[in-house]
Amino acid sequence: MAPIPTTMSGVLIEKNGGPEVLQWRTDLPVPKLQDGEILIRNEFVGVNYIDTYFRTGLYKAALPLVLGREGAGTVVASASDDFKVGDRVAYIGERAYAELTSLAADKAAAIPAGITTETAAASMLQGLTALTFVREAAGIKRGDEDKGPGSGPWVLVHAAAGGTGGLLVQLLTVLGAKVIGTAGGPDKCETAAKNGAQFVIDSRNEDVVARVAEITSGKGVDVIFDGVGKATIDSDFDMIARKGTLVIFGNASGSPPPIELARLSAKNIKLMRPVLLSYLATKEERQEYTKELFELILGGKVDIKVHDVYPLKEIARAHSDLEGRKTTGKVFLRV
Ligand code: NDP
Repeated sequence: MAPIPTTMSGVLIEKNGGPEVLQWRTDLPVPKLQDGEILIRNEFVGVNYIDTYFRTGLYKAALPLVLGREGAGTVVASASDDFKVGDRVAYIGERAYAELTSLAADKAAAIPAGITTETAAASMLQGLTALTFVREAAGIKRGDEDKGPGSGPWVLVHAAAGGTGGLLVQLLTVLGAKVIGTAGGPDKCETAAKNGAQFVIDSRNEDVVARVAEITSGKGVDVIFDGVGKATIDSDFDMIARKGTLVIFGNASGSPPPIELARLSAKNIKLMRPVLLSYLATKEERQEYTKELFELILGGKVDIKVHDVYPLKEIARAHSDLEGRKTTGKVFLRV
């Protein structure tokens, strides 16, 4: 194994703003390993919408900052008994847009044989989001799939051709839900249908509320997964069924406005705003869900669809494409 350098390449922001604030640098300090940590040479790093929130300043963090919340590669130094040099690992962590990333060993997962490093990097954050949200927010438990396809609740997934939305659709379908997906434009609608959505609504060209009413014979949907946020939250209240669960989990179109509690009463709606890391707070939770995700991938039940792999240097283009609604599936970077 090559000696560990003192500087490395990576992507830094020194101020908040548009994609132009993303600087590709070759002079970043290599992180110093603390007790219990491992140092990973990243091969692939995921791009997620949350990276754009930290870049713009919607989510606050001290600057300068190396962005990036997930990656996969090889352990090059270890101060933990959990992993040794040479192990292949994937992780959700911080400062991933870089050649080398350090993190507490219990936050990393060994990549099983049969899953490429590329697929592991592309699946961690969005895959675990979809899985934990389906299980914990929508309450669709293990065993529900045994009742057969279409036996479960009506679920609406916004941005059903996207990274997280696409995986939600795949998982919900496998677990027996009747899924309606929205997507912007005919090509994305085709992708949403391939993800397994039984009904697809073109959010750019159709009246989504009217179509949902028609499909569900006026009843509405039992669960809505909405990562679009500001542009869609109002219509969610029209489309949710009585006693339904509204899972608002992102801000792709901007932060949703505050919601009056009284708005929940007319249909006794359950409203949630979950974040992935609060479902993965303990080592046991991380291990259990990661194991289940890898099993779903190995078993062919979930297919990690990739939009494109960008060179790390071209990070600004990757962010522009993601924010410009130009992508379907996973956007990620080769380091
Ligand atoms: P996606 O791949 O889903 O890309 C975002 C998609 O949102 C676009 O492709 C677009 O699809 C749709 N969209 C609708 N309106 C807009 C708009 N005005 N601007 C941009 N996009 C728009 O991204 P991710 O999978 O990375 O993230 C999806 C959402 O999930 C984000 O809100 C993200 O923050 C959230 N998320 C939340 C987590 C949590 O823990 N709470 C964890 C992971 C993700 P279309 O053109 O088809 O409408």
